[in-house]
Amino acid sequence: MFRVSKVLCESRKFSVGNVVHGWRVVSIDNIPELHGLNAVQLVHERLGSLFLHLDAPDTNNVFSVTFRTPVSSNNGIPHILEHTTLCGSKKYPVRDPFFNMIKRSLNTYMNAWTAGSYTMYPFSTQNAKDFENLLSVYTDAVFFPNLEKQDFLQEGHRLEWDKSTNSFVLKGVVFNEMKGVMNDPSTLFALRMMTEMLPNTPYANYSGGDPLEIPSLTHEELVAFQQKHYHPSNARFVTYGSFGPEKTLQFLNDKIFPSFEKRLDVPSAPNAVTTFARPKILEMTGPADPLRSVSEQGVRWARSYLCCDAQDVDQSSALQVVSSLLLDGPSSPMFKALIKSGLAPDFAPMTGYDYHTRSTMLTLGVSGAQESELGMIKGVIDHTLIESADKGFDPQRVRALIHKLQLSLRKTQANFGLNLASRIMPFWVHDCNPVDLLRVNRFTEQLQKAVDHPRSRLLESLVEQYLLPNVNPHTVELLMRPDETFASKQTEKEERILREKATAADRNEVVRVQEELESRQQQKQDISCLPCISLEDVSPTVEFHTMQFSFPTRQLNSTVVFNDQPTNGIVYFSRILPVDLRCVPQSKIMMLNLFVSFLPRLGTQSFAEDELSVALDSAADSVSVGSLITNDETAFVLGASALADGSFFDSKWRKTSELLYEILESPRLDNVDRVSQMLRTMMQQLPSEISDSGSSLAMRYAAAGLSQEHEIMELTSGISYIRNAMRLGDDPTYVLSMIRDWLGSLYNAQMEALRGPANSIAVGTARSLYIGPTELLKQCAPAFSRPFSPSVSLRPDLNQELPSQVVEFKNHAYFVTPASQVEYAAGVMKTDIAYESLDSVASQVLVRILSSQYLHRLVREQGGAYGSSASFNVLNGSFGMSSFRDPNGLRSISLFQGGLAWLKQYNVTEQDLTEAKLEMFQGMDAPTVPQSRGSLAFLRGISDEQRQRRKQWIRSLVAEDVYRVADRLEGHLKKHGMRVCIFGSAEGAKKAEREGWTVEDLSMNSEV
Ligand SMILES: [Zn+2]
Repeated sequence: MFRVSKVLCESRKFSVGNVVHGWRVVSIDNIPELHGLNAVQLVHERLGSLFLHLDAPDTNNVFSVTFRTPVSSNNGIPHILEHTTLCGSKKYPVRDPFFNMIKRSLNTYMNAWTAGSYTMYPFSTQNAKDFENLLSVYTDAVFFPNLEKQDFLQEGHRLEWDKSTNSFVLKGVVFNEMKGVMNDPSTLFALRMMTEMLPNTPYANYSGGDPLEIPSLTHEELVAFQQKHYHPSNARFVTYGSFGPEKTLQFLNDKIFPSFEKRLDVPSAPNAVTTFARPKILEMTGPADPLRSVSEQGVRWARSYLCCDAQDVDQSSALQVVSSLLLDGPSSPMFKALIKSGLAPDFAPMTGYDYHTRSTMLTLGVSGAQESELGMIKGVIDHTLIESADKGFDPQRVRALIHKLQLSLRKTQANFGLNLASRIMPFWVHDCNPVDLLRVNRFTEQLQKAVDHPRSRLLESLVEQYLLPNVNPHTVELLMRPDETFASKQTEKEERILREKATAADRNEVVRVQEELESRQQQKQDISCLPCISLEDVSPTVEFHTMQFSFPTRQLNSTVVFNDQPTNGIVYFSRILPVDLRCVPQSKIMMLNLFVSFLPRLGTQSFAEDELSVALDSAADSVSVGSLITNDETAFVLGASALADGSFFDSKWRKTSELLYEILESPRLDNVDRVSQMLRTMMQQLPSEISDSGSSLAMRYAAAGLSQEHEIMELTSGISYIRNAMRLGDDPTYVLSMIRDWLGSLYNAQMEALRGPANSIAVGTARSLYIGPTELLKQCAPAFSRPFSPSVSLRPDLNQELPSQVVEFKNHAYFVTPASQVEYAAGVMKTDIAYESLDSVASQVLVRILSSQYLHRLVREQGGAYGSSASFNVLNGSFGMSSFRDPNGLRSISLFQGGLAWLKQYNVTEQDLTEAKLEMFQGMDAPTVPQSRGSLAFLRGISDEQRQRRKQWIRSLVAEDVYRVADRLEGHLKKHGMRVCIFGSAEGAKKAEREGWTVEDLSMNSEV
């Protein structure tokens, strides 16, 4: 990724005090710890806009523009503005320039988001022409948006007349999005805590919007808010990468800024909160979790402490470390006191240090605790804080943390620039110097001093200053009890607002506006005004990743494959061991995930679980036991990465390999306490997965009936897995026994591989900047190329025979999740289209056309769902469609079933093809992190030559190919039909039941 080096500082134009295209250079700083990048800060002389350029030899260039958008109500104004801004602008007057550009560019990232007090619009791309195109569309969108009334109605909120039920309904993309967000008890809890901690600041309001208040926002207010806030005088720009800032500076100055005069009334940094005289103690109710009874799920409780001002960057960084030392990992004091002790299964939402607000805060609390235990819990928290301040933090843990911090800087990330830009922003909007944030070494040196001189008490003094009992009057204690009727009360409130709106509304007028909007949504629009990268701008070849050299190892009867590339001194290693799952009973398959996630956390014969985690943090970048499902197999992937500089015998790398072998050879398979605790935590966290990933759960369940591979996917990560996992709480012994059983399978897989013909079962993707490949071989091979032999018994201590079949997968299944007010729908079918074929490529094009020309229009724009998409899995040939936060899942399902018929009569244009192809090239050419290079070949057996062939097929593909594959897919649809599934509300279930669907209730009372 780091290729071209731009020597910006040699250019005399950019020296402090000089003016470049209307921008005055304010400062230039070199940051050695971040790959030696140069940070240039500029200010626009006439308008006062701020600009930060991070000059790095990285081809993945970033642009972002950010405005302060503080709010004083919950009507969601900045969020709805963020959506409508992207619905057409002066130069690009089309309905959806943003979504269209996703397909007309080679971007590696495009997005926009509303934070607590600002709104940010970033993109990244590796192509210079594309950068110009996107820059033009982004800046036109934010500075000259059309903000038409109809876009406001579509994205914000509107009243509609539902002919099928003869009643009014409220719709709108943001309205529905926030309804989904507000179903989540953890989000509600965190929002309330924020409001109570920071009254009379912008953070006391929900910038995303409360669905009960969104309907009060008017179009006029939206337009006025835009004019005031989206102004150059209120803008902060960041660019990053190898292109240099000059063209962007010139473009803004010459093309955008002439339309503006300096504005003095732009918002200043959000104010700090006025400190409380005494603590607040509050209670609230929230939605009940699905899958468990109210008494079982316990309560959420937390105490937040006001800490320093965000402008105090040093103290804020130190507080992040304090939070991490108190709370992270099984060796932390709060984990031991609250979670390991069994007082609570998990920490509360928001637990930890939050630096995104002007006045920062640290939160300590628990989720899923019994209310009767809260007195004890508060005592334990206070006691733990007193002890941490008195005895000080364990220097070994502080050292491990420094190691982790330094390592995270050395790691090459796929979107490094974008991460930097988003990390800086919360500080920059609070008037900190963004460069201070980048100087990480200064901070780790301070930490190192604190460890070397224990009397400095750098970290402990912060505990004393903010967290000890009775020292900080500005605290809020918040208790949230689950309420099974919460969702229905919420619906009642919404209905009240709907009734008010309906009474005031003129039905004919509503229908007229609605029809106007519908006909506008159905209009085919000409988007030729939007810039588009041409296929000629795309490199005709793929980047070759595959191994440069390999060598046989006698010990493992296998080939070790190396991928030689720059990794900043980190070696990445993985070894795979395939297991045939065809004869493994379902009940064991459902335990696969628990095995891979629990095994490395049990501790070993020589390290207790908390010692092991400190040892790993001090030595490794990461150590993992993972699994990968392909066809009817699972492959265990044993992975490790660590620094490999220095000599092998005292290297982190050797220690890491020893730790991995320890985990595999002598895990503590009798650690019942740890397993019980991990199960409790898991049961606390799993229910929220249902609302977070409803569409993929629906898709996975619907697909389970297609093939054994799909069934295994469902059993290891679908709703069947979640329901099974929720039942394991009382039975840690069974879980341990299953872990032992799986470890046996892992060991057998290794033995199998040793006996079988030589195959490549290990790979080191590596290249040290300090040692050559031969040296690396010498160092890595002895570390990992030996078999492991467990010193624990591998015979499972289960007496009973496992039932082989426990779940049956139904078609037309509707899962009711009690708290849900929206739906997630999925339909999927199997095809016989092989990876290595033109039809596979054509199917990928087809699903893109379906998503953008059919589903986006009918399911999102007209149906009011937050999202929808069609997908084709090139590896197993399954074809499907799904919707996300959908007000009407059944309607979407019938649209899914009509998708192919629609496509066949649709006129596929050259532009449709180009857009689909560009999107596919985006994926193929996206920057790859070192640890993933070559993994497609290694784990999936897809060679660089195959990828190259695919790229050529994509280029040559024509409309006939799409129609041909549509015929072929329709043949499958007619023969086998589509398997469908919905996750949704009790109300939706009634409708589905009337249409013959099988309804399954996920709440605790029902049969599991
Ligand atoms: Zn949104």
